[in-house]
Amino acid sequence: GVKPGTTILASKVAKEYADEITKKVEAMKDIRPQGPLLVGFLANGDPAAEMYASWTKKTCESMGFRYELRRIDDKDFLEEAIIEANRDQSVDGIMVYYPIFGNAQDQYLQQVVAREKDVEGLNHVYYQNMYHNVRFLDEEKQLKSILPCTPLAIVKILEYLKIYNTLLPEGNRLYGKKCVVVNRSEIVGRPLAALLANDGAIVYSVDVNNVQKFTRGEGLKFTKHHVEDLGAYSDALLKECCSDADVIITGVPSEKYKFPTEYIPDGAVCINFSSSKNFDDSVKTKASLYVPMTGKVTISMLLRNMLRLIENTEKLKAK
Ligand code: NAD
Repeated sequence: GVKPGTTILASKVAKEYADEITKKVEAMKDIRPQGPLLVGFLANGDPAAEMYASWTKKTCESMGFRYELRRIDDKDFLEEAIIEANRDQSVDGIMVYYPIFGNAQDQYLQQVVAREKDVEGLNHVYYQNMYHNVRFLDEEKQLKSILPCTPLAIVKILEYLKIYNTLLPEGNRLYGKKCVVVNRSEIVGRPLAALLANDGAIVYSVDVNNVQKFTRGEGLKFTKHHVEDLGAYSDALLKECCSDADVIITGVPSEKYKFPTEYIPDGAVCINFSSSKNFDDSVKTKASLYVPMTGKVTISMLLRNMLRLIENTEKLKAK
């Protein structure tokens, strides 16, 4: 018979932001006559990153930004190159394609990028604000904080899919929604679980080792999310967490991994942000809406973050 599920492509969601972004770039012509400049650093030769970089360039240029990819052959020179871009007044935004060293040195490099140019939103200050549900950088609430762009992209996809209920006050729009996130990396999965819980959802955060529950407590009594350990990972526990899920989000970086279709309740929304296909085609027999990839929305959020950084810089100058 006809499968009930509908596939929603990231390009469709990204389109929603193209107008807003293009207009803002136009309005900046007086301060950025040639368009804002984003610099991407590629030091790992990863073909997936190459592809992402070429998409970013295309998207940038279609909306009035400039994009420059800087390839670093010897990764030991990357830190110096970032510092130089930090100092360079003509550079508005900096992004780095990870993993590079594949260990804690990558986290160090994330903090080397100047906070004012950190389009990916990886600076410690932005993370701390996000985890604490703080939306502004200053006491006067003039300078908006930046959110890490992949988790933010997934939030925007959930808004597009109408999982966020706009009849509820902002900040509570996911009240009571059950979400499962299979990935708890510090780049995507953990901040995503926190963002969703901060907006009122009950989030089951799953990684290879264990399962955690992120919520704002009964009746949303807390102002920021709390975390509870539910125990070691097992298929049975995953199945239980999924039994009445509204949303299932996957980010397992493996071609072999497939999320068990039989765990998906009828009508759930399924989103995969991994570069590997974590759901097989049978997902469409269960999911109401299925988003197979999210990268194009991430790029939109990157550019939106960059405009916000420029706005913040200009506001600070005017002070
Ligand atoms: P990572 O390796 O840091 O984290 C992977 C996470 O998945 C870990 O929490 C791990 O415990 C969990 N995991 C692995 N196997 C699992 C299993 N069988 N069951 C449950 N959990 C499991 O990777 P990352 O940096 O978070 O990236 C993940 C994927 O997302 C990659 O494919 C990456 O390319 C992609 N990514 C996409 C975007 C985007 O914009 N679409 C952005 C960043 C990363």
